[in-house]
Amino acid sequence: MFDSYQGHNKKMLKKIPKPVINILQELEKNKFEAYVVGGCVRDLLMENPPAGGPKDWDVATNAQPEEVQKIFEDSFYENEFGTVGVKISEQGTVSSEQKKWVVEVTTYRIESKYSDKRHPDKIKFAKTLEEDLGRRDFTINALALKVENNLTEIIDLFGGQKDLQKKIIRTVGDPGERFSEDALRMMRAIRFSSVLGFSIEKKTLESIKKNSKLLSYVSHERIKDELQKIILSDSPASTRGNDRSSTRGGPAEGIDLLHETGLNNFIIPELEKGVGVKQNLHHIYTIYKHSLLALKYCPSPKLEVRLAALLHDIAKPQTKRGEGTYATFYNHDHVGARVAEKILERLRFPREVIEKVKLLIDQHMFYYNPDEVTESSVRRLVQRAGLQNMKDLIDLRIADRLGSGTPKAKPYKLRHLEYVIDKISHDAISVKMLKINGNDLIKTLKIKPGPKIGAILDVLLAEVIEDPAKNTQELLLARAKELDKENLEVLRKMAKVRIEEKKEEEDKELKGKYWVK
Ligand code: ATP
Ligand code: MG
Repeated sequence: MFDSYQGHNKKMLKKIPKPVINILQELEKNKFEAYVVGGCVRDLLMENPPAGGPKDWDVATNAQPEEVQKIFEDSFYENEFGTVGVKISEQGTVSSEQKKWVVEVTTYRIESKYSDKRHPDKIKFAKTLEEDLGRRDFTINALALKVENNLTEIIDLFGGQKDLQKKIIRTVGDPGERFSEDALRMMRAIRFSSVLGFSIEKKTLESIKKNSKLLSYVSHERIKDELQKIILSDSPASTRGNDRSSTRGGPAEGIDLLHETGLNNFIIPELEKGVGVKQNLHHIYTIYKHSLLALKYCPSPKLEVRLAALLHDIAKPQTKRGEGTYATFYNHDHVGARVAEKILERLRFPREVIEKVKLLIDQHMFYYNPDEVTESSVRRLVQRAGLQNMKDLIDLRIADRLGSGTPKAKPYKLRHLEYVIDKISHDAISVKMLKINGNDLIKTLKIKPGPKIGAILDVLLAEVIEDPAKNTQELLLARAKELDKENLEVLRKMAKVRIEEKKEEEDKELKGKYWVK
């Protein structure tokens, strides 16, 4: 129980921020017990912790919330979970304008009944640290640390340090009991295995498989938080420091574990429809396997791009026509964008995230071949997808390619596309970028305000996309004068030429390699 090795001790102490130590000492001065607990102790003890070390610091104490508040002036208590937020700044417990962060000081608690399997019926405070550690989910999360006379002591009642060393996720106590108290813990087990690169102990894993249905009692909000952490976890080969000892973890393995345990039936059941579904001559993997690999190899750390990588082919099962070598998935990109929207809405992702994922999936089939594609068609692509989204769209394409088993992440074609995007990025790709606007038309050409203005601008844009040299005030006004003679319907048809051209491009896709992708 005692970890008294001095050198180790000193190193550990150094890693704990001064203000956190002050909080422990302040509580003890007032005759209360105080420990650093939970995830931060786990991360502190790890050789290669995620994100380089603990993010937030949690303190457990036998002081009641009101007593904690009395000790720390700059604190707040706004929930019923016994947690008081103590605001601190880098220097200590100072108020003023310095950047503040919050240490959560929580009164010892004990597990109470969850009759709805969602929320504890009532928060019960406990008397001892033992009780408080016993209600925590996993052994590696049930460690406490005490600071005394400039020494640290680890309190390890459930074998957390051993499991940490062996890289194992194991419940505190009987897994079946712990999962029926709170079913989210099953997903948390997988989340920690993804983020930390740990494996889940056999009995714990078996129990998740047995109890997976209980996840249906958990709110979508809580599920989303854990799913997001799984998606954002580092792939083993990428950024997990120099730790090459673990080949486990990462988002793709996390999603696969959700599938294997049956939990995914209550998270993204739509993904399950791609399991075992073969594609066509361009693909060696099934739809499900390809989706996981696209996520695994996604070069972007962004949530939106990773979600798009996982979901980009979500509508392939339902759009599949034919079998074998020549099966097609026509329109799976556009249908997929809508399916993804439904999934992400259900899981309560924020609107901006949903819109971005939708756009990426909707546009992921863009055709690009340097020999065939003109600058104007790249301008149209940028117009559809938005210049600010092009990097993410290319990252998604890279994920898609690597997830198909293509060895080269970024072939000449995509590098060439980046070059063209760069080159055209100053060209007009939206009406806003035209050198004249609606007011100019009204003032100079005396056109009456109305739908005709918009239609003329649309035609002008279509023409400028074809030839950016036409984007001067003089040329545009002259052309607008001509266009003003046409009626609205004709103008709309002319603007539509652009759409027709887009269709032509898509027909090319049909012929080309990507039509079946
Ligand atoms: P992270 O680094 O992602 O914040 P964490 O371990 O701190 O990881 P939190 O979700 O912040 O995870 O929870 C803090 C601590 O509270 C956990 O380490 C665990 O001891 C306990 N805990 C959190 N959620 C549960 C739960 N559902 N059941 C039991 N204990 C839990
Ligand atoms: Mg935490």
